[in-house]
Amino acid sequence: MSTIVVLGGGYAGMAAAARLAKLGHSVTLLEASGQLGGALVPVREEGFTWDASATSTLLPAVMRDLFRKSGRPAERELELVPMDVVREHRFTDKSSVAVPGGTRGAQLAAFDELGPGRGQQWLDYVSRFNEDWEVLRQHYFEVPWEPTALPAAVEERFRSRETLHKRLRKTFKDERLRLVAAHPFVAAGQELRDVPAWAGLTAYLEQRFGAWRVEGGMGVVAEVLANRMKTRKVSVQTATRVEDIVVRDGRAVAVSTAAGEIDLGADGAVVVAFDPRSLPALRPLVDRTLPAIPPMTFHLGLDALPEHLTDLPDELVLHGEPTLVVRTRGLAPEGRHAWTIHSYGKLMEDVLLALARHKIDVREHVVHRVDLGAAELVRRWRGSPLGVKWAGRSTVFQRLGPRTPIPNVYAAGAHATPGAGLPFTGLSAALVAQTIGPA
Ligand SMILES: Cc1cc2nc3c(=O)[nH]c(=O)nc-3n(C[C@H](O)[C@H](O)[C@H](O)COP(=O)(O)OP(=O)(O)OC[C@H]3O[C@@H](n4cnc5c(N)ncnc54)[C@H](O)[C@@H]3O)c2cc1C
Repeated sequence: MSTIVVLGGGYAGMAAAARLAKLGHSVTLLEASGQLGGALVPVREEGFTWDASATSTLLPAVMRDLFRKSGRPAERELELVPMDVVREHRFTDKSSVAVPGGTRGAQLAAFDELGPGRGQQWLDYVSRFNEDWEVLRQHYFEVPWEPTALPAAVEERFRSRETLHKRLRKTFKDERLRLVAAHPFVAAGQELRDVPAWAGLTAYLEQRFGAWRVEGGMGVVAEVLANRMKTRKVSVQTATRVEDIVVRDGRAVAVSTAAGEIDLGADGAVVVAFDPRSLPALRPLVDRTLPAIPPMTFHLGLDALPEHLTDLPDELVLHGEPTLVVRTRGLAPEGRHAWTIHSYGKLMEDVLLALARHKIDVREHVVHRVDLGAAELVRRWRGSPLGVKWAGRSTVFQRLGPRTPIPNVYAAGAHATPGAGLPFTGLSAALVAQTIGPA
């Protein structure tokens, strides 16, 4: 049985630890903060609970596979609920579209509300990603890739100069469709001119498999996984900040923490599940990457709201300058509401006033609020859970993972292959487990 030390106890670190322990390895998990969960640890104040980052996931099969492959199936521990409306977009011309997940027919009808032919234009845009998904699933997302020996179909996509910005301008005359297609990337701190066109395949995943939330919030996932660390006998050390990986003769031999070194033994390995730029031994390998920065975030605790504000969808995107995203599904005491607002762009006034301009006036209903700037969020999370910022087509080759140039060091998580977001960080953990294999 070999020793594997997993660095970072967010979703990806816990997912990798659970999978590797089930494969028979002796696993130690090191987490700098006082608790496991990383960006999934909710914000709890004054009886309100807000998801700190993710509120839903694409590709629920990835989460189900994690639970099944590491112990009890997900259905026994948490409730994954498909979202009828993934998000509603409201545009500056007062038109709107509520985007349904998991069905072509419903998307056709929803986009047709924006004008004749819009539904078909949307379906045509999304269906172009079908082949991208099939190709990349088999050689990149679900199978450990070998960047220096890629099949031609993958190479063609990864080397293409077409950006998502260009694709959207070419495809849609209606700016509103461009805004809908661009939104997941804007929300993830990306600049469309730097995102390759193939990455837009998330629209296909949303249409084909839907978006799913977890009953009780994403904190439940963090809790269930933390329990799984116990069942799988992962040795968890919280409040343990990793300072570096000690590399000798080209191999990792120890992990150094503020409390001392952890020896890896002869056949040990390390899985890095946070931003590798923070480790001196790995920094030169990723010095061309930059993190994507989270949005300004406002958690609002609200008392009883007027009726027109109680039936908002789980996620509402209010386009404008700035664009505001309202997430309405936080947990609140009876008769109250817990909302989270993200702001993208220049916010020149109080967020409540900015919301009121969209006819969502909650100024008289706020009983508690938590304002978090991007710098504070990154400090709290010790890095950005949005992973690496796209800087063009070569970024895909600059992220580490599942392997790294150091043979017994692997990379998972938002900063690793295949990228940020729960489905992809979940896949990153599966890729690492697949690469390392059984003990
Ligand atoms: C505002 C926002 C909204 C989002 N919404 C969605 C969404 O709706 N759907 C979706 O799928 N995704 C969403 N995401 C992305 C998703 O939350 C992340 O991609 C995912 O949670 C990242 O998990 P991770 O384990 O890679 O990283 P993290 O959760 O950041 O975990 C990294 C862990 O490593 C620890 N760590 C860091 N440095 C050290 C060190 N030196 N030593 C020891 N431990 C260390 C940290 O404390 C942390 O616990 C959102 C992200 C943000 C910011």
